[in-house]
Amino acid sequence: MRGVIMDAPGTIRVDDRDNPTIQEPTDAIIKIAATCVCGSDLWPYRGIEDVDHAPMGHEYVGTVTEVGDQVSSIEVGDFVVGSFFASDNTCEICRAGYQSRCVHAEPMGALGTQAEYARIPHADGTLVATPGQPDADLIPSLLAASDVLGTGWFGAVAAEVGPGKTVAVVGDGAVGLLGVLAAKQLGADRIIAMSRHADRQALAREFGATDIVSERGDEGVARIRELTGGLGAHSVIEAVGTQESMMQAIRSTRPGGHVGYVGVSHDVELPGLELFFSGVHLHGGPAPVRRFLPDLIDLIWNRTIDPGKVFDLTLPLDDAAEGYRAMDERRATKVLLTI
Ligand SMILES: [Zn+2]
Repeated sequence: MRGVIMDAPGTIRVDDRDNPTIQEPTDAIIKIAATCVCGSDLWPYRGIEDVDHAPMGHEYVGTVTEVGDQVSSIEVGDFVVGSFFASDNTCEICRAGYQSRCVHAEPMGALGTQAEYARIPHADGTLVATPGQPDADLIPSLLAASDVLGTGWFGAVAAEVGPGKTVAVVGDGAVGLLGVLAAKQLGADRIIAMSRHADRQALAREFGATDIVSERGDEGVARIRELTGGLGAHSVIEAVGTQESMMQAIRSTRPGGHVGYVGVSHDVELPGLELFFSGVHLHGGPAPVRRFLPDLIDLIWNRTIDPGKVFDLTLPLDDAAEGYRAMDERRATKVLLTI
């Protein structure tokens, strides 16, 4: 089968890889219908994370072609969505809603879903079948549920978004934009998107942003305070993962408010004394997307939400290198790869 391999930072190759096979009786094999390039794939692409001839990709939707002997709830022919961590969905951590930290969690990135087929560990726990075969126009949205929608949604839930709340979103990548969408669905009164890019500001407004702040850093924080009577937002979603974005999120939050951080943290160090006096709640981490998948699939299936709009470039799998370039150069927010 064809699959994406990152040989070294900045070097993407689409080449023949061995077809995956059932290795554990709890595995399934899926034929991938669509996959995509993640903002987090840019960390190794830019040399910020080590990479050496690695298969790439952790987002996927597709059709089950084979199941192991112990798989009982997923069947051959099902159209399925799964998250970027395989999880058994039965351990104590999973049952508490933190499937990305399942005691048997396996990162899908190691298996590489930017490919024609993928092996899915713990298929019964990991995969959620859609009610039927999806119309083609629903596939981008279902694919978004696999990571960026579920991650933005967790950011909003972790930030305790809800009616009566003012929400600020730091980061205008796919996760930040879908954090805006989640905040709208969860009933926030006011949603402030922080973005400097006209096209992303427009999508943020379409997803439910009521205000746009184009300043960042200390100036961005000052603008958020201005817009919130000097107090700061109740709920702030951090969707970048840098020192600047994390501090921007904490400083934009009012005392007693909540920060939901879902940008993968890189070299972030929190000053203890400032954190102490901020009085904010911090919650986040790798989003337990599996917790939200059944509800998100419902909202997509009945066309209440259209998170697939974050894909602004669609390319065939064989052109993955151009997809990575386009995202690296910020010519694209999110690249969908067709198989
Ligand atoms: Zn578990």
